[in-house]
Amino acid sequence: MRRARTREGDNLIAAIIDTGVNVDSGRVEVVMAAIVEPDVATYQQYIDGEWAGAEDGRTYPVINPSTEEVMAVAPASTRADARRAVAAARRSFDAGEWRLKSQLQRTQIMFQIAEHLQEVSEDWGLLESQNAGAALRKTSVVDVPLAIEWFRSMAEQALGVPWYEPLPWIDSPYVSWNFVQREPVGVCAGIIPWNYPLIFAMWKIAPALAMGNSIVLKPAPQTPLSALAIARAIDETGLLPRGVLNVVTGDGVEAGIELVENPDVDKVAFTGSTATGRKILAAAASTIKKVTLELGGKSANIVCPDADLDIAVDGALFGTFFHQGQMCESGTRLFVHDDIYDTFVDRLVDGAASLRVGDAADFDTQVGPVISRAQYDMILSAIDRAKQEGATVACGGGRAPNVGDRGFFIQPTVLTGVSPDSHAGTEEIFGPVLAVQRWSDLGEVIQRANRTIYGLAGGVWSRDTRGAIEIAKQLRTGTVWINDWHLLNPLAPFGGYKQSGIGREHGREGLLAYTEVKHIHVDQGVPRSERYFWDVLLG
Ligand code: NAD
Repeated sequence: MRRARTREGDNLIAAIIDTGVNVDSGRVEVVMAAIVEPDVATYQQYIDGEWAGAEDGRTYPVINPSTEEVMAVAPASTRADARRAVAAARRSFDAGEWRLKSQLQRTQIMFQIAEHLQEVSEDWGLLESQNAGAALRKTSVVDVPLAIEWFRSMAEQALGVPWYEPLPWIDSPYVSWNFVQREPVGVCAGIIPWNYPLIFAMWKIAPALAMGNSIVLKPAPQTPLSALAIARAIDETGLLPRGVLNVVTGDGVEAGIELVENPDVDKVAFTGSTATGRKILAAAASTIKKVTLELGGKSANIVCPDADLDIAVDGALFGTFFHQGQMCESGTRLFVHDDIYDTFVDRLVDGAASLRVGDAADFDTQVGPVISRAQYDMILSAIDRAKQEGATVACGGGRAPNVGDRGFFIQPTVLTGVSPDSHAGTEEIFGPVLAVQRWSDLGEVIQRANRTIYGLAGGVWSRDTRGAIEIAKQLRTGTVWINDWHLLNPLAPFGGYKQSGIGREHGREGLLAYTEVKHIHVDQGVPRSERYFWDVLLG
């Protein structure tokens, strides 16, 4: 792979057919294809209330995965850029212009900002669709409204956070007044992946701001545009003090690693792969940062023999093929009971084969492209490997037909006869690939469902709600849906057991993760001679 260069002086930009982060180096890598028209937008990063290019002027092309065309150019932020952003966040935090506002003031300001976001977000659905390959009907019905709702909800929920909590009366060795004081954690670094760039940007920005912190956000290099659109909109309001929100657009090994290692960052909130999560945890160790990790998954979806088949088949399709399966909590391991297996799989295959694959910006598209050439190749090779390991391709299995030869389109794929310990049975493929297994014994299938390094989500389909809840309790995952999938809520904690993560986002747990906890002990005027220090040291 060659690195992309821009010749902006000549007004020419080298087009690329892919960007991707090299798994080993973490760097943005690109393949050049052609020289294209220069009329693409050039974006800038947002540091300390200013818009600027990278310190060394480097840029990289941002690709539309439906067309493989360059849709924008973004700064390849360096470590120095990230350091500058951290310094701005540190200065703003220490100055206290945001941190020291009352919770009510912060919430009111965030509500005002949300009004503006609402007004200017008309084009965000299309932008997200073109940059992330997310179907327009998803981005306009789900991503944009939810992102703004999340912003409001975090601001509102912050009003209920117990900043001050009295402790029970303490009278040993004598009476004192004790309470817990919560405080903003400080400078936060939000590092996010490419699959939900708009929503994840909000999932980092909103709780950090609601709890009085300053933040530097780094979107994935493939998908920087919606995070920059949010920063632009917030900047337009003039309501947030300078340096409280910063966005850098580089890759993992430059900007990303700087955010994790910089001693002025107090907390890292990371969403991404388990492999990168491990690196981040290790890198954050040198400065003992607070770290929350939202990582990968391989969620088990258990269909019981008494399930409503119509809804369960739809739910299994939705649970896997929504956003091309590029969702961390997708139900990609489907366990279907023997009694209904044949009927269920027939209907599943019909449903998967009838999904309309195409350009994400077309409102009729149900399944768009995967994000990049690297992901496309990785998914197709995972399907090949599944076949070699004994699975049968019941439908799909290759490039989608009727979509031309541009764009990273893969057919919704159903694999049957997947061995539980095979690659397709254990590894996150992060594409439109569903691995189906049979079951007949409930205890055994629960064990099989839990036999994974991941623990993000799970699902149960049954008409017996009580029985389903009992199964849900035995699944070692942070979320379980009963007769549903993908429904997350700003009030409900979200996160993973095992190697799917550390900590929770959203709701009370999510907000508290953006605070430090302080115990304050207040003496109640005990005479000198009765003091503890007199008994144990000075007397
Ligand atoms: P990734 O881990 O490759 O990258 C995520 C982010 O980390 C990017 O911004 C990247 O630039 C940055 N990064 C990479 N190396 C870094 C380093 N050494 N130091 C600091 N930052 C670094 O993930 P991806 O491929 O962009 O996204 C797909 C993955 O994200 C999947 O595994 C998916 O399951 C996971 N994911 C998890 C959740 C969740 O909430 N649990 C949600 C969505 C996606």
